[in-house]
Amino acid sequence: AKEEGRNAYRFFTPPMHQQAKSRLLLANDLRQALADGQLQIWLQPIVDLSTGRVCKAEALLRWQHPVHGMVPPGQFIPIAEETGIIVELGNWIFRQAAAAARQWLEQGDGAPCQVSVNVSPRQFVSDTLVDTCLAALRELDVPPHSMVIEITEGLLLTDRADIVDKLARLRSAGMQLALDDFGTGYSAMAYLKKFNIDYLKVDRSFVRDLDADPSDKAIAEAIIVMAHKLGLKTIAEGVETVAQRDLLALVGCDMVQGYLYARPMPVAEFLASLRSEGAA
Ligand code: C2E
Ligand code: CA
Ligand code: CA
Ligand code: CA
Repeated sequence: AKEEGRNAYRFFTPPMHQQAKSRLLLANDLRQALADGQLQIWLQPIVDLSTGRVCKAEALLRWQHPVHGMVPPGQFIPIAEETGIIVELGNWIFRQAAAAARQWLEQGDGAPCQVSVNVSPRQFVSDTLVDTCLAALRELDVPPHSMVIEITEGLLLTDRADIVDKLARLRSAGMQLALDDFGTGYSAMAYLKKFNIDYLKVDRSFVRDLDADPSDKAIAEAIIVMAHKLGLKTIAEGVETVAQRDLLALVGCDMVQGYLYARPMPVAEFLASLRSEGAA
């Protein structure tokens, strides 16, 4: 049934020249969207399995398009990357995420809290990335250790000295680094030695069938054991069921994120949910 669904979707996909046209329109719309305030970051809680408390939140971009409605990031982030708009957009996202961290710090009880931001490889080409991030943190009075930068494996495979240098500068400033979607890319583990990564995010594809597929369980467990031996903490993505959560806890996973706890939500809603959690 899944296959049929996929084929049906493909059937309705517009022909190539129309796709190219709609991508172009979307790119123009995106420039306008930033100016018009159609973009927002939403937050999804990340829960520490040892305390059961929300310790971080991932910032996820949302676009409320005036005509197309909610456009999922998977549809426009790639366009933002290809056109280079991601650099300006990424700076804006980081600032919004830092502002959210500021609010969380203000209402918090001193327990650890961090906001995690996705930074795409294209943003690392920019020579102003690190300084722009640090300036935003200074202006908003947010300590760098309140921020986590999520990067993908591909970035670490580029042997470019300037990218290695930018990652090192972000980290020595006090920000932490998370390796996103772990296990889906190249997984040439050697680079884990070369970079100071703090967190491995176990990709949703290994979590999905955790309770049914013994090989997925073996992979998830192997990633977690390896991460711990290298001194990294693990965050499992896409946790939707209690069974998945319990299995992850059993194999020593540190943190979980997924619909079991909450979907991504507007910043104000996220902050309110923490207040009522604290009151409960
Ligand atoms: P990602 O970084 O792997 O983000 C996790 C995605 O999984 C999010 O999709 C989130 O809504 C979804 N998710 C979380 N829990 C569950 C669950 O239990 N089940 C399922 N089925 N899904 C879950 P979203 O928000 O649609 O984002 C998709 C991708 O778009 C992200 O994948 C990331 O690669 C990119 N993206 C989103 N926001 C940003 C951003 O601000 N900057 C950059 N560069 N990329 C972003
Ligand atoms: Ca991510
Ligand atoms: Ca991910
Ligand atoms: Ca992903």
